[in-house]
Amino acid sequence: MKGSVVISLFALLALASSVASAYDPSPLQDFCVGLNDTKLGVFVNGKFCKDPKLVKADDFFFHIMPGNTSNPLGSQVTQVSVNEFPGLNTLGISLARIDYAQYGLNPPHIHPRATEVLTVLEGTLMVGFVASNQNDNRLFTKVLNKGDVFVFPFSMIHFQLNVGYGDAVALSSLSSQNPGVITVAKAVFGSTPPISPEVLTKAFQVDKNIIAYLQKQAWYDNN
Ligand code: MN
Repeated sequence: MKGSVVISLFALLALASSVASAYDPSPLQDFCVGLNDTKLGVFVNGKFCKDPKLVKADDFFFHIMPGNTSNPLGSQVTQVSVNEFPGLNTLGISLARIDYAQYGLNPPHIHPRATEVLTVLEGTLMVGFVASNQNDNRLFTKVLNKGDVFVFPFSMIHFQLNVGYGDAVALSSLSSQNPGVITVAKAVFGSTPPISPEVLTKAFQVDKNIIAYLQKQAWYDNN
């Protein structure tokens, strides 16, 4: 009797720990509003599949070109998600090539559906991410050289700045077929339609002219 109580306690603990380590399934798009009438549904969660009999080797092949860094940020992200590379559908992975001019910046941004592992292929980058409020918004930052790898955990705000003497190139691996990007400054100050200045003035604790100035800027999207 005592033995079986111990065994069921262990079973309960095992169950509890497996529940504790689980988290919500990752959505495959920004939103997927439910429909009661399936006849009205157009999109599915992900993409439709090609008939396997018609699939060719080229469906699993992609070639990434260097990005053009002649822009206000001096960086260009060339995304290779399921939208560019349909062969990734349902595989839970994607990648991006990031080109940086000297002093080029990939500005603070979030991937709402992915963790990112960045590998420096050329040059020197100062990278970092900021943990959530729960972890006191701690900044984790490091200077990376060719061959170095850094991980930006799921949904954390992160950035890369080229601090080297020439161009830089990085390759990012992302844990979603459609990781998504929210560029912090562009999303907050360049939303469509704009967020009420009353909200931003209070949130940022600055004069309303500063908010008006920021909302007037053309926020370049390097993705
Ligand atoms: Mn990123």
